[in-house]
Amino acid sequence: MDYQNGQYVCEDCNLSKAVVSVAFPIAIPGLYDYKIPQKFRDIIIPGTPVLVEVKKNRTWGVAVKLKAASKFANLKEIIDIKTTHWTDSKRSLIQLYEWMANYYKCDIGRVFRSIVRKSLVSSVSKTITLYSVKECDFSTLKVSYQEIMVKLRNINSFTVKQVEKSLNIKRSSITYLYKKGFLTKTSKTVVREAKELEVEAEQNNEIKLTDEQFEAVKQLKQAFHSPDKPFLLHGITGSGKTHIYIEIALYSLKQGKGVIILVPEISLTPQTIRKFKSTLGNVIAVIHSHMSEGERRDSLQEIVSGNKRVIIGVRSAIIAPMDNVGLIIVDEEHDTSYKQSDMEPRYNARDIAVMRGYFQKSLVVLGSATPSLESYYNTIRKKYNKISLTERFGAAALPEVKIVDMAEEHRNNNWSPVSRFLLNRIQMCIENKRQVIILLNRRGFSTVLICKNCGKTCTCPNCSVNMRYHLSDYTLKCHLCGYEEKAPDVCPSCKGEQIKYKGTGIQKIEEYLKNEFPQIRILRMDQDTTRRKGAHIDILNKFANNEADILLGTQMVSKGLDFPSVSLVGVIQADISLHFPDFRAAEKTFQLLTQVAGRAGRSDNSGEVVIQTYFPEDSAILAAQNHDYESFFNSEISSRKELQYPPFGKLARIVVQGKDELKVKSTIYSIFSIAKKFCGSDFKTLGPSSAVLQKIALEYRYSLLIKSVSPSKIGSALELIRQKSLKTTKTIKVIIDVDPVNML
Ligand code: ADP
Ligand code: ZN
Repeated sequence: MDYQNGQYVCEDCNLSKAVVSVAFPIAIPGLYDYKIPQKFRDIIIPGTPVLVEVKKNRTWGVAVKLKAASKFANLKEIIDIKTTHWTDSKRSLIQLYEWMANYYKCDIGRVFRSIVRKSLVSSVSKTITLYSVKECDFSTLKVSYQEIMVKLRNINSFTVKQVEKSLNIKRSSITYLYKKGFLTKTSKTVVREAKELEVEAEQNNEIKLTDEQFEAVKQLKQAFHSPDKPFLLHGITGSGKTHIYIEIALYSLKQGKGVIILVPEISLTPQTIRKFKSTLGNVIAVIHSHMSEGERRDSLQEIVSGNKRVIIGVRSAIIAPMDNVGLIIVDEEHDTSYKQSDMEPRYNARDIAVMRGYFQKSLVVLGSATPSLESYYNTIRKKYNKISLTERFGAAALPEVKIVDMAEEHRNNNWSPVSRFLLNRIQMCIENKRQVIILLNRRGFSTVLICKNCGKTCTCPNCSVNMRYHLSDYTLKCHLCGYEEKAPDVCPSCKGEQIKYKGTGIQKIEEYLKNEFPQIRILRMDQDTTRRKGAHIDILNKFANNEADILLGTQMVSKGLDFPSVSLVGVIQADISLHFPDFRAAEKTFQLLTQVAGRAGRSDNSGEVVIQTYFPEDSAILAAQNHDYESFFNSEISSRKELQYPPFGKLARIVVQGKDELKVKSTIYSIFSIAKKFCGSDFKTLGPSSAVLQKIALEYRYSLLIKSVSPSKIGSALELIRQKSLKTTKTIKVIIDVDPVNML
């Protein structure tokens, strides 16, 4: 491809645009050529959604390349196009997508699936009917209708729903008055917005930046006009990173440039959106997975039309079709939810942000209190700039962290899941009319159901894991495949009646706390209580409005919450993630603990954190206790170096999956032999072996890890593997995961 004065110029010929190569967001690999009929000749540009026929079905694809001619004969014609949906006149986005497809080894169509799905392209805008009162004499009407007219006269225009609700006027009355000519009717297109945007903007308190914040903003503004590398904003929890984001976003808008802000989990951050909204105004579009198709369509429409110049979204927002982006912010850049592990493209939105910034010359700001080792190491190598914020805003200090050794607790004959110390602190905190956050990163009631007689545990019939017991509906559930069954009264194996619930899940803690403190109000937030759309927001609103004393949750409660009256944070089983077979286990544990600890004492000096663990001497836990990122980084980075794990070596993980174990095995071994061809001193393979999760939903899983200091070598090995795997049978899945985060 070629650029002239920033405009895309056709590869083969800059005049004739007779043919277009189209990619598809569905399971059709590769590009297909189509003829452009005369009526669309000058309208189709890269990025335009086009309707075509593939294998006798009409399908929406995206114009990727324009050409003068095709090497194929008898091309079919483009049937229809959408000009307002998405375009990429400078072709810089398509260039980014091509890069993603190549880097993550998938089809380009997969990359933009989230913005060009059929249902999305075909969905239409929503219109509402507005009524207004006509200037006229209505004294001829019945008295009851006259009264209605008097009420309506005061309103400019209204929908039936509005007056039904606020004035208790019936729909039939409105229809009657309209028919008799006392009302006029118009229709208006409305934009469906995500629920998060409905919130009233926060009262606009005058924000005066602290010296540290001011300096940070100054540096970012200076770099804005010709950014040469990304910034890592390393600011401790509560240091006020949000206000820095807002200032620099405002600056970008003033320069006429758009802004993309990524957050790990949008339903958890209505507070953040409220803050942005109050300063930036009504310019925000939201993108996340809990939106309806209509809301998503309207959001994209508003972005493409230029009505909304700020996007706040989760990982998929990084590929959103916004023109002229000046600033990309990735908040909590270390968060693993930026990595899409479960489907193609298996991208990390944080890394795509850096690449988008590079292709589109926008300023990239990665923010975190606990930066990923990769990003922090990049500041040491001078690939990124670093800005540090070392103080909490206002009178707040970092909370004091106390570690409780649970082994000691058991020695002192306390076998309950909550230590006496933590119970005592909870009581004190609530007596002082403050709030508590409790974290236990494990769903369900208990981890295993075990027969005391024969030792049988209840495993999922489809997967190689124990099922978890859920108290609310007395079921055993598999958290991998969703299988569930009624919990047995007797052991299915020996018919013994003594069944024991072992291991503690979050529901058991809820029961336990309710027992200990019958008068205390508890909100539980986990996957099971937040299935319904908007459920997250409701729970957090209730907590914010002081309708509960304790917010008990899984890792969800560690993310970005800013509740001024929380002064105690308790962590049950802080070591759950510490012994995972994952080279990032220590890093993930440190991040989780530091982040959740950071929710305490954000408005004053009252913050306190209690961490319960069986490994009180572990370095990740101690570093979290001391809020000491540097020491954690230094010890962790040296072990990464020794083993050549990221950021020193590049990783790719291959998982082969299928019902026929023999076929799965033979496939992984043939992939292994391809990888071995690339062997050299800078290229290593680990495995193949059966994956940690050996079986999911009746499919056997084998994995292979490839490690190399040479990214290009890994790239070509993966390309070969991909070419081969495209030829494997449909019953065997070959998953290529570049820069993997999920090692199970
Ligand atoms: P974090 O760095 O953890 O994201 P926040 O941006 O949430 O921190 O800020 C922590 C709290 O301090 C918030 O309630 C925020 O509104 C407040 N705050 C931070 N900076 C300022 C400021 N300059 N003026 C007023 N309030 C501020
Ligand atoms: Zn299962």
